[in-house]
Amino acid sequence: MKHDDDLVRRREEAQRKRGRIEPRQARQLVVSEACEAQARRVASAPTLYRKMLEKSFTGGLSPRQTIKAKCLDCSNFQRDEVASCRAVACPLWALRPYQAQTGGRK
Ligand code: SF4
Repeated sequence: MKHDDDLVRRREEAQRKRGRIEPRQARQLVVSEACEAQARRVASAPTLYRKMLEKSFTGGLSPRQTIKAKCLDCSNFQRDEVASCRAVACPLWALRPYQAQTGGRK
């Protein structure tokens, strides 16, 4: 992903300027940190949603399923919170799942 590549490049440059580690080591460090953060997030999710989160981290979900995963993650895995989300400035707001529960879009 472009964002990840930018992050890795910036991290490498910063590390190189400080003369601490080589670019390859910096890349491994970023990947390792990302994997650890994702593993912590999956472990802290309710059991019902862990598989979905794992798949979202590996790109194994459809765009629609990924939006669902993001909204659930954002709302602490409470479906009614997603349905009644009032963050109208969020880019995903119009596409969020469970709107049928509140009489919105199905
Ligand atoms: S639409 Fe609401 S629940 Fe979904 S990501 Fe945005 S703020 Fe979170």
